Amino acid sequence: TIARTAIIAGNWKMNFGPKQAASFTSNILPTLGKITRANPHVLSIICPPAISLAAVHEVMEAMPAPHIELGAQNMYFEEKGAFTGEISPEMVKELCTTVILGHSERRGYFHENDELVNKKVLAALNHGLRPIICVGENLAQYESGKTHSFIETQIQHSLANLDATQAKQIVIAYEPIWAIGTGKAATAEGANQVIHFIRHTYTAMYGQTAADTIHILYGGSVTGANIADFIAYADIDGALIGGSSIKSDFAEILQKTA
Ligand code: PEP
Repeated sequence: TIARTAIIAGNWKMNFGPKQAASFTSNILPTLGKITRANPHVLSIICPPAISLAAVHEVMEAMPAPHIELGAQNMYFEEKGAFTGEISPEMVKELCTTVILGHSERRGYFHENDELVNKKVLAALNHGLRPIICVGENLAQYESGKTHSFIETQIQHSLANLDATQAKQIVIAYEPIWAIGTGKAATAEGANQVIHFIRHTYTAMYGQTAADTIHILYGGSVTGANIADFIAYADIDGALIGGSSIKSDFAEILQKTA
């Protein structure tokens, strides 16, 4: 198997305006930087709310730390214009390397479907942004054994129409909805099994090399106490962290991944 770097991404969700975001970043960044400096194979990506990106970017410029990047939590696919409340790929690119797309909260509360997510994925790639595309089944689907068929559809539709280069540049986050923010993480074995299936699905779409190159993360109630279980599995390349990303726990997660 191919050795992939580990990615630990933090999705702050709707927490921390510019002032709090700057002070939290100032506090945690020296610790994160110490970890990534000693472990160049780990990459950490911090994803604050859009309004706080500039404030966090400023702190990161003042305290350079290797392999720590900035990401947005969402964006629109259009270039510019009359799209009130939205931010464009070009705007995100000014400050970020990465953008989370199709998070289950976007899909659920804001009615984003696979077709829209696919447009955003293509826009991100066309602007040189690294998309982290989230997929995952809900509890009813999980309990009725529909996880694989549901996720296969999400992957096929959300990740359609990439060219050969783009197909190697994405990150997928497998986030079972029943595990997000519930404190009930998937078992590491169960997560690895679904992630293996995602890689298999992706192989059928874009070939073995692309499937071996992309990172696939697990997300859902990851903490400092359980991260080691997940990254011990070969198919799990890191984690997308919600609740624990706005606590000192985030540094512990990164440390245990390194
Ligand atoms: C998420 O929302 O991406 C997530 C994984 O949340 P949590 O870690 O809080 O379950």
